[in-house]
Amino acid sequence: MLERIRNAFQILSRDADVERALKEVQRALIASDVDVRLVADLVKEIKGAEIPKGVPKSRYVMKLLYDRLVDILGGHKRPFPVVPQRILLLGLYGSGKTTTAAKLGHWLQKRGLDVILVAADTHRPAAYDQLKQLAERANLKFFGIPGEKDPVRVVEEALKQKADVYIVDTAGRTTLDEDLVDEVKRIRDVLIPEKTLLVIPADMGQSAGREAERFAREVGIDGVIVTKMDGSGKGGGALSACAAAGVPVYFIGTGEHIKDFEEFDAAKFVSRLLGVPDIEKLAELAEETEINVEDILEGEYDINKFYAQIKATREMGPIDKVLEMLGIRSVPKELKKMTEEKFKKYDAIYKSMTKYERAHPEVLQDPSRIKRIARGSGTSEEDVHEFLRDYKRSEKLVKKLRKKGSRKQLERMLASGRLPIPK
Ligand code: GDP
Ligand code: MG
Repeated sequence: MLERIRNAFQILSRDADVERALKEVQRALIASDVDVRLVADLVKEIKGAEIPKGVPKSRYVMKLLYDRLVDILGGHKRPFPVVPQRILLLGLYGSGKTTTAAKLGHWLQKRGLDVILVAADTHRPAAYDQLKQLAERANLKFFGIPGEKDPVRVVEEALKQKADVYIVDTAGRTTLDEDLVDEVKRIRDVLIPEKTLLVIPADMGQSAGREAERFAREVGIDGVIVTKMDGSGKGGGALSACAAAGVPVYFIGTGEHIKDFEEFDAAKFVSRLLGVPDIEKLAELAEETEINVEDILEGEYDINKFYAQIKATREMGPIDKVLEMLGIRSVPKELKKMTEEKFKKYDAIYKSMTKYERAHPEVLQDPSRIKRIARGSGTSEEDVHEFLRDYKRSEKLVKKLRKKGSRKQLERMLASGRLPIPK
């Protein structure tokens, strides 16, 4: 879906060929399992739109397309409340409930809440261990009673534990049958959740809408979390079907790792799909790994900042993912891959520099300084040169980022219908 829609935007911006671009969008949406009627309506509406005088048609169509895609996928986000609460997770077998319990717990913990995960899937013996391990890895509280068969008793006991947020992981079934409905209702009667969330995998495509409706009717839900957005080409269908069913999608899961989880906002999602840099997401990721984006995007760039970046890269891994969100495809390889060995070297080199040198890298052209740093850090002069080359490349990249403009500018562009087009 992504490539095709991007391609459609290129057709619009390059050839101003509205007809062909709409065909491409149509194909992309249908391939992503979006309801054909929705797609037909979108195309009809855009074809029939009256173009205001003085606005180039292709530009106007881009803006319309952007707006309509955002609508179809669910409109603007409903922020998930960051408050003490009890959350009940429901879903069919294998939908990603247990993984999501940990992801959501981590997300709320990052926002200052004390979270406990509750193992109320008493059907699968392995479920207890799975949730316990995830809780340990994410540094979250955990409660479960090994061997207990009654989920209601687990929940009763769990509520005696002290925490701000209780996230209750439940058992799934292969279908929403009477047995599952009954179990959910019994759990709900003791838990009295503020939020009951249905977990649905993206690969269900548009049948996600029907499933959400059924759960809503049978047991009542407050919203949906769509998992496995990374591995499915049908995410568009799942998101649009939930929107059509009137059920808010609060979060999406985008991988197996605990951090592969984000609040869902259709506007942001579409912007990214079209290649508009997503500064907010970068800021969020950075917050969790302690790089200060403001710092990187503003003020003088120096070796201290470079060092902070490589440290963060080492902690968060694939910075290329982050940079791609900013529309930068060719990520310098030194940022992509910070091996442990290289980091140790760079760490030593950094520590052998004086405060003045770190803030004024230009003085490091002096060979005697290079020699001193190499000796002090137990590395070679070539290593120090490599460090400086990487620093230079990183500095260039940051300048590029700055040129890409701030969030405010992007918002202004979107508001005026001047979408920045990815190259
Ligand atoms: P449950 O039966 O509903 O509790 O599902 P689990 O949480 O055990 O997840 C089932 C499988 O899906 C596991 O292998 C998870 O690692 C995987 N999974 C869950 N969420 C995601 C996601 O967002 N992306 C990917 N790629 N895999 C996921
Ligand atoms: Mg489970």
